[in-house]
This record gives sequence, structure tokens and C-alpha cells, in this order.
Amino acid sequence: MKKIPTSLGLAAAVLATLVVTASCKKGAVAPPDETQSSTKGQSVMDVTKAPFGSLPDGTAVEIYTLTNDKGLKARIMTYGATLVSLEVPDRNGNPGDITLGYDSLDGYLKVNPYFGSTVGRVCNRIGKARFTLPGVEYKLGANDGLNSLHGGIKGFDKVLWTAEPVKETGAAGVRFSYLSPDGEEGYPGNLRASVTYLLTNDNELKLSYEAETDSPTPVNLTNHSYYNLAGHGEILGHELKLYADKFTPTDATLIPTGEIRDVKGLPEDFMTMTPMGARIAQVPGGYDLNYALTSGGGALAPAAEVYEPTTGRVMEILTTEPGIQFYTGNFLDGTITGKGGKVYPKHGGFCLETQHFPDSPNHPNFPSTILEPGKKYSSLTVHRFSVR
Ligand code: BGC
Repeated sequence: MKKIPTSLGLAAAVLATLVVTASCKKGAVAPPDETQSSTKGQSVMDVTKAPFGSLPDGTAVEIYTLTNDKGLKARIMTYGATLVSLEVPDRNGNPGDITLGYDSLDGYLKVNPYFGSTVGRVCNRIGKARFTLPGVEYKLGANDGLNSLHGGIKGFDKVLWTAEPVKETGAAGVRFSYLSPDGEEGYPGNLRASVTYLLTNDNELKLSYEAETDSPTPVNLTNHSYYNLAGHGEILGHELKLYADKFTPTDATLIPTGEIRDVKGLPEDFMTMTPMGARIAQVPGGYDLNYALTSGGGALAPAAEVYEPTTGRVMEILTTEPGIQFYTGNFLDGTITGKGGKVYPKHGGFCLETQHFPDSPNHPNFPSTILEPGKKYSSLTVHRFSVR
């Protein structure tokens, strides 16, 4: 694809060639990718846009590719503001895709356990698909037995977002926006939501969420990427550290009981680096739990660190959220064939979903998820990549 000088107006550039160059600095060596030939002696921090199929009603879906100078590449599509792939070099400098998903839109439309999805209006579960705000009970779309999971029947993962490239020095990004109408999936209030993906030259993928409403409503946005830092196979050998000394135990339908329990002495304790599989047999079904981060949320703080010994890849997660869902892909069962024809076995990927606690609207002792009109919801999660 042809590259457009940064000085060109962004809108004109998009229209002209569907390629946008983000504001970047000079000097870095171009890695071997498709932009190399046209960026000799310059930074390759880049945003490009391409078609990615169409929805059954014919609406076009687009995919944005963010590239940094260090060989990282993130692809995000407008359907579900979904992270479709994330290429990260291993300790020998070989790039590899570390997320699960599909090669084309079709897969995402057929069977999708939220691969890479932006999840909302409320991620995770709401018990019995209902909650009350002073004086009013709201009934939500139930899509997980009696409960509502990840925003309901048609959550934010199944809608088309509008996208605009973001210019920042040393970073390439895209901002996705969606207006969720009053009453959608039973939620009150028109909610204007956005998620911005920013890839920096410091090997960070930053996800920042914002939302505003015209009526009080719960909001809890996250990203549901399944990671496998080795690229494929089971993730049980990945080592994990969680900056969390407590978790929220659940009932048989994965709804929190309301207790906030100390991890000390339990198989849920990841306060020090431990292989994900070391004690998984002691946790019925595998890990699928919200951890209460020691930071308590608010300011950006470390939440998790994952190390994959065979490739040396390291992913650190920092967040402003008070919680993180650790899920070991327990419901993957070998029936999904994903990118590059890879079959995804049980525990073939893990999720670390930064969030407020599940079922918060029904637990007054959990940090509140209620957004009031005139207030701004904002949430930041940073994924930092390195090798060891
Ligand atoms: C939940 C799992 C669920 C998965 C896919 C995770 O966030 O914790 O219980 O199966 O999402 O829906």
C-alpha cells in the first residue's frame, strides 16, 4: 500500500487511499513489513485501514492496522471494536500473533466466545438479568441461563462502531465510538461510549474507554481478548502474577456471592509468579474469577504480569479498574478452528479482563458502576510487552 505524508489532512488521506499515517518521529529502523519500502529512514508508526468483509445486511466492516517501530502490530475491526490480532516479537525477535480469533469476519459472525471483543454496556454477569435503581427495576436480556452476560443478547461486541484514526507523538491509534440507545438490552439512558486503542513505541497497547449518559445507568467496559503468548497450545505453562490479594467467590452460575475473600493459602493465590496450571485441578472447572486488585482502582496501577517460558514473551497489565477477571478458556473445547486453521483446545487461551466487579448493581458492598448524567466514565488499561 502507498504511504501518505503526515502533512496531508487525515480525512483527505483516508478518502484518497484508505491509508493514514499517524504523527510519528524520525530515525527508527523499519522492520520488515509492508510499509518498509516507503518509510526508509523514518518511523513506521502507522495506521492503515482496509475492508474486512460485510455484515449480513451488506454494511461494510473495516479493519485498522496499527504498527510501531519495534515490530508490534495490532489489527482492530469496527465490528465489536474487536482486537483481531496482535503480533509481538519473541525473545529471538520473531513476531507471532498472541491472540485467538478468526482470519475473516465470517467466523466472528458465526461462533464467537468474545474473541478480542469490546464488551459492554456491562461486562461479565448480572444475576437474574435484573437490577434496580432507586424505585425502578430494570430487566435485561438474559443470555446465560437466567443471567445476563457481557451486555446481553446483542452487546457492544455485536454492533458496528465508527472509527477515526488518532494522532499522537510516538503512538498510532484508532478511536471507536458507539451510541447505545435508551432501552438497548434493557439498560436505561442513551450512552455515548468510546474505546481508543493506542499502540506506542514503548511497546504498549493502551485501551482507554469513555462514556456519558443522559440517565443513570450501570457501565462496565472491558476487552475480552484471549491470549496465548506462545501462539497456540494450552496456556497452563504460562506464569502469572496478579496484584490482587482478594477475589469475589461465585455461586454455581458464576454470580458473586458478595463475599470478598482473601487469596492467602488458596489455589486462587497468584500474588507470586505461578504457572496457570499449577493448581488448576483444585479449582472446579478452571479459573473464572474476578480478583479485587490491591490498588483498589482509581489511579493506573499494576494488575497482572504473564510470562511464557518457551518464547520469553512477557505481558504486563496496568489498569485504573478495581478488578480483573482471570479466565482460563474453560469453555473452549476443540470445536473452534481459528486463525491459520488452529484448533482451540480447552485452556487454549486465557483472558485477563480489567473491570469493576461482576453483578455490581446487585451488590452495594462492591465499587459502584452507576454512571450519572453530567459525569464522565473513564477507564484505562495498558498492556506492556517485553521479553525475558
Ligand atoms: C467469563 C466466562 C465466559 C467467557 C466467555 C468470561 O469473561 O468469565 O465465564 O465463559 O467470558 O463468555
